[in-house]
Amino acid sequence: MSNRPVSLVTGAGRGIGRGIAVELAKLGHALIINYAGNADAAEECLRQVRAEGGDGITVRADVSSTADREHLLQATLAAFGRIDLLVNNAGVAPDVRADLLEAGEDSFDRLVNINLKGPYFLTQRIARQMISQVQRGDRNDFGLPRIVTISSVSAYTASVNRGDYCVAKAGLAMMTKLFATRLAEFGINVYEVRPGVIATDMTEGVKEKYDRLIEQGAWPIRRWGVPSDIGRAVASIARGDFPYSTGEVINVDGGFHLRTL
Ligand code: NAP
Repeated sequence: MSNRPVSLVTGAGRGIGRGIAVELAKLGHALIINYAGNADAAEECLRQVRAEGGDGITVRADVSSTADREHLLQATLAAFGRIDLLVNNAGVAPDVRADLLEAGEDSFDRLVNINLKGPYFLTQRIARQMISQVQRGDRNDFGLPRIVTISSVSAYTASVNRGDYCVAKAGLAMMTKLFATRLAEFGINVYEVRPGVIATDMTEGVKEKYDRLIEQGAWPIRRWGVPSDIGRAVASIARGDFPYSTGEVINVDGGFHLRTL
């Protein structure tokens, strides 16, 4: 069994998830690098994790599937015997952006299953595992277990061409409050990290739109966010820098959430 902190990052093969995995590797974590289909990206992430001093395994699992979520936990326990940090990061954009008055149920079901139902029930399952670890006194250098969910400014920003995405992200914000409240008695702190616009495959198709918005000053820090911006926020939670905070939202958005006059 590893003496390293053991962190499960969903959707860690590419983009923000990889950025999180690499920052946790710098803290010496063992990573469970979950991915949905792109095995090459996950292997590349593992290579980068090892180059930064971490270690880990890659595990294919669709977070929207009950059986796959169980497989993810069992693969984690088989490799490392416990889990110290869950990072709910996996998520998708709508297949097509469609107006609120037209968008169909199939797109809604797919997106909400992956972006909300998946993390909700994965958190429930992992929380039970964490509670059993706490109750049997399985302490380690890392301290008590923690849970982080990557939401979005879409949790409170209305985009009428992707209502399903906004509704799912708003749901994740409440999910964080719920689990923070329920898990506090076990010493398990729960956080939401809320990214703004981050340069990944997800935003590649709308690059010009956001380039223009940044130029116009749509948010105070006039640049794209990068995956390591999110990774560093998660790493500070992983280090235990917020011991008297739970249910807390950390905006990593270049100041997008500020209202200005
Ligand atoms: P991305 O570059 O498209 O990467 C998505 C990752 O999630 C990939 O590793 C993918 O696996 C994985 N994934 C997709 N569906 C999955 C499923 N059903 N089960 C397990 N893994 C799955 O996206 P990203 O930009 O890094 O976004 C990561 C998270 O941040 C998402 O929750 C997104 O909503 C959120 N976010 C992104 C931005 C942004 O501007 N990029 C802003 C706010 C919030 P494969 O590689 O195998 O396909």
